[in-house]
Amino acid sequence: MTKIGIEVHVQLNTKSKVFCSCSTKQSDEPNSNVCEICCGFPGSKPVLNKEAFEKALKIALALGCRINKETFFSRKSYFYPDLPKNFQITQYESPIGENGKYMSIRIRRIHLEEDPGALIHKGSYCLVDYNRSGIPLVEIVTEPDFKNAKEAREFLRKLITDLSYLDVYDKKSEFGLKADLNISTTGAKVEIKNVTGLKDIEDALVYEEERQKDEIPRKNETRGWNSEKGITFLQRTKESEDDYGYITETDLPLIEIGNKLLNQIKESIPELSEEKSERFTSDYKLNEKDAKVLANNKKLAELFEKVAEKVNPDIAAKWIIRDLMNQLNYHKKSLNEIEIKAESMIDLLKLFEEKKITDNTAKQVMINMITKKNFMPKKYIEDNNLIMKSDDSQIEKWCKEAIKETKKAVEDYKNGNEKSLNFVVGKVMQLSNKTANPDAVRKILVKLIRK
Ligand SMILES: [Zn+2]
Repeated sequence: MTKIGIEVHVQLNTKSKVFCSCSTKQSDEPNSNVCEICCGFPGSKPVLNKEAFEKALKIALALGCRINKETFFSRKSYFYPDLPKNFQITQYESPIGENGKYMSIRIRRIHLEEDPGALIHKGSYCLVDYNRSGIPLVEIVTEPDFKNAKEAREFLRKLITDLSYLDVYDKKSEFGLKADLNISTTGAKVEIKNVTGLKDIEDALVYEEERQKDEIPRKNETRGWNSEKGITFLQRTKESEDDYGYITETDLPLIEIGNKLLNQIKESIPELSEEKSERFTSDYKLNEKDAKVLANNKKLAELFEKVAEKVNPDIAAKWIIRDLMNQLNYHKKSLNEIEIKAESMIDLLKLFEEKKITDNTAKQVMINMITKKNFMPKKYIEDNNLIMKSDDSQIEKWCKEAIKETKKAVEDYKNGNEKSLNFVVGKVMQLSNKTANPDAVRKILVKLIRK
């Protein structure tokens, strides 16, 4: 039976690094956000960033962990150029949280540590950028509770959403989320190191599960993931667990977590995606599927709630999920890149709700909202004379013209093919610049054709 466990590394979105005051900005010139602490100069002393610690604690609480009231840091020794002091400050014996549960997956532990620098390979040589060195990382270790790759992906997708609700993680971050994947099928345990992004995580697990059917691992293995080729490759086999020679980090004090802090952090935990989607079904009477789609995306959920204050929630949900998302996908944009103002959305959907614009016009306006900056729907609709036309005599003129231009469809309709009418309606919409009231159009067309 397949058993999968994940170790997720999440970069926290703090302004400064975890043990020094350097900026966490990654876009700056390489090695510009560094100091003697994050470069590990002899004699430099780390100081714990309160914000990073509290954010780690918040994650542990949100994932239902038991909190260790006394926690401390350790040095994990290894020698590699991305780690100038030859050890990483992490937590070993006493992580912030243990024994949690999230989405029915048991969480073994959650701890805080520092990210190493980034190695940039350039053909025959390698450069090191220490801007990343010291960025706070939270490691979330699950028990091997996943039965397949899909479950693992779904767990991580949800985790990312909830981390954004917790305001501890910024999806745009370049090195954002990385995972080590443990998978055993019939043989020994295989670890796939450093896989980035949900799709790659799922692909790596699917590949490895298949591979182990043909090549049953006899010894524990560490493997890498080649994203381009879509394969894992052997890095090393191992007889026993790695020995990192952990020792206590005596430059940092023992941290006691008092009840006051604990309660304060507990209270700061907002509504997470599961609860939110339940509330959307009960308060706004949305169906379960729509409620989930909205709740699983912080920006979408916020937009929906603002719009639903002023517009019928059904209309708001349908237009945000169906039309907005479709158009975003079509134009290869994400909600993170563009700013959809709730006010614009309300302006547009109110006009639609009050039957002042047609479905077609609303769609057209939605495209402009995505592709144009500072676009104002109301003004655009007024300037372009797009208010829905319900004046019967005007509609009759368009209908007569449309009937002349679609003789075959009209004949087909007369002969009993109901669907042919849609073609004639389409012609009227075209002639009216999509502004004719479609209900009135149908009624008048039927009357004119039957005469
Ligand atoms: Zn620094």
